[in-house]
Amino acid sequence: MAKIGINIATGSLQQQEMIVGIDLGTTNSLVAIIHPDTKKPVILKEHDGAAMVPSVIHFGEAGSISVGDEAKKSLVTEPHNTIFSVKRLMGKSYNDVKDHGSFFTYKIIDDNTESLVKIQVGSRFYSPVELSSYILKELKNRAEHILKTPVTKAVITVPAYFNDAQRQATRDAGKLAGLDVLRIVNEPTAASLAYGLGLRKDESKTIAVYDLGGGTFDISILRITGGIFEVLSTNGDTYLGGDDFDRTIVKYWSGRVSLTDEELQVNKNLSQELRLMAENAKIHLSSNDSFKGNVAGYDFSLTKEQFESLIKDFVERTIQCCRNAVQDSGVSISEIDEVIMVGGSTRVPLVKKEVAVFFGKKINDSVNPDEVVALGAAIQADILAGNNKDFLLLDITPLSLGIETMGGLMDVLIPRNSKVPSKTGRQYTTQKDGQGSMRISVYQGERDLVKDNRKLAEFNLTGIPGMPAGLPKVEVSFLVNADGILVVKARELRSGIEQSIEVKPQYGLTDEEVEKMLMDSITHAKDDMQTRALVEAKTEALQLIDATTRFIFKNRSFLTEPEISQTETAIRSLKEILETGTKDEIHRSIEGLNEISRPYAERLMDEAISKTMKGKNIIN
Ligand code: AMP
Repeated sequence: MAKIGINIATGSLQQQEMIVGIDLGTTNSLVAIIHPDTKKPVILKEHDGAAMVPSVIHFGEAGSISVGDEAKKSLVTEPHNTIFSVKRLMGKSYNDVKDHGSFFTYKIIDDNTESLVKIQVGSRFYSPVELSSYILKELKNRAEHILKTPVTKAVITVPAYFNDAQRQATRDAGKLAGLDVLRIVNEPTAASLAYGLGLRKDESKTIAVYDLGGGTFDISILRITGGIFEVLSTNGDTYLGGDDFDRTIVKYWSGRVSLTDEELQVNKNLSQELRLMAENAKIHLSSNDSFKGNVAGYDFSLTKEQFESLIKDFVERTIQCCRNAVQDSGVSISEIDEVIMVGGSTRVPLVKKEVAVFFGKKINDSVNPDEVVALGAAIQADILAGNNKDFLLLDITPLSLGIETMGGLMDVLIPRNSKVPSKTGRQYTTQKDGQGSMRISVYQGERDLVKDNRKLAEFNLTGIPGMPAGLPKVEVSFLVNADGILVVKARELRSGIEQSIEVKPQYGLTDEEVEKMLMDSITHAKDDMQTRALVEAKTEALQLIDATTRFIFKNRSFLTEPEISQTETAIRSLKEILETGTKDEIHRSIEGLNEISRPYAERLMDEAISKTMKGKNIIN
């Protein structure tokens, strides 16, 4: 249903609702839209305000909640009530994060280690989804204030390595904030879009996206072909970023003036001021050769050379991740066409230099690295809004999807590498007279027998009205929506009864597992083909035996003794061959039975027709 928005500022009607692009970051978050006039992506910001909203939530005394810059001020003074880095907890259990327990200054509950984490603030418990929803709500409110129109639809970005649970958690957070999340997009995909890569249908490119933020680092190798983005590999370190640069500077300075860790531990204000000055120094050194400053009577200085030697090892660690990612991607460095820089810390000249040296090419750093992901999300939102009609951003299904049919065979409805969204349907029927239900078992994989594939779901279509076998028409439809969620529907067309189920085909599958399933299907292709042919022959034989037996039972009085006995012998021998025979032997035996039954079946058919013709009254 289309909605009409009223622009309160101008009083005009806005026919089409704006879909915003949101970069929900670990440290900072941003919102972007496609400017209605220029048609270019822009970051939303208040006239005098900053564009970035710190991803920090502060819980005040009387139940007040603040998000952003205001909340950030409480990070040092009220660490127990101030939540940061909630993105690191999305879709995670306590077991997943316990090794980094000391990183979080707030309380993470560890009573039930396998279930999703909860955060305790005062006497209340919050899930990461709820906490993220506060950030999204703040972004939504800001966007509405700036745009002066309701904002209810969004595209949200997540790291390429996020699994289904983390993606679903992000989607739930959006919903809780009152946003209809139209698509979850990979951050490197969004960054590529912001550089205009992947926007041409005939384009085929391999891209490296190097993302070094405040607290996390990741590298993704993507292949774009005809608007389809495929993540070839990802690597990184979720606890490495610009904050580490700041900390080494603080350590270096405190060493110079003989401040011990204990002193800094006690004097929270001094340590906070030092940390802030270290960050200022780092930023200053991105465009200057030296820095001088003073904190609490101490003079500090740092040259670019000193800074670079302090962070050298961190940068080298990121390069090692790049090396691993390239290796895992299966492409060689020389095949990588573009290198894109994302995240505030890629402004550090040493980082730019080392990345360019490693990839052996000029890097793409012309788009603001803090904004590039949000800008790309806005482009994706615009495509979804249908404003960019020439182009449809598509993903593909990595494995085939289908259902089990007679004999345990896989009947593929959506073949692998299909573009999503994708919809298809096929008709099936019952095998037994009066069969009242039909089991629909959904599988994913490339093998011919379902037992070698991965079962995704199963349900029973019940309430099929009693009819002879083969008469009911059950249409099974598969719809894979833009988020890769598969909806399977079964509907009996005569009676209209229907049932459906939703499954997440990728759930729990790693890239390696998908790859293994594909490799297995290639290795077993020949065996599988033979097995399928045998199963099909057996199924055909069973159906023929069943139909012929019923035919004889019903029409015994119209048949001669020899016809009956010959048929019974042929059925017996077909049953024997079924047990041990080859596909060809079964086919021969099927043909043998058909040859015996065909003449009398035709005779009876002719008699039946002439009878009905005779009984017909010509004059109505
Ligand atoms: P992000 O998480 O992408 O917002 O990146 C934030 C990180 O980038 C923080 O560690 C900032 O200190 C760092 N950063 C921002 N601007 C600069 C700059 N000009 N030079 C070096 N680091 C920067």
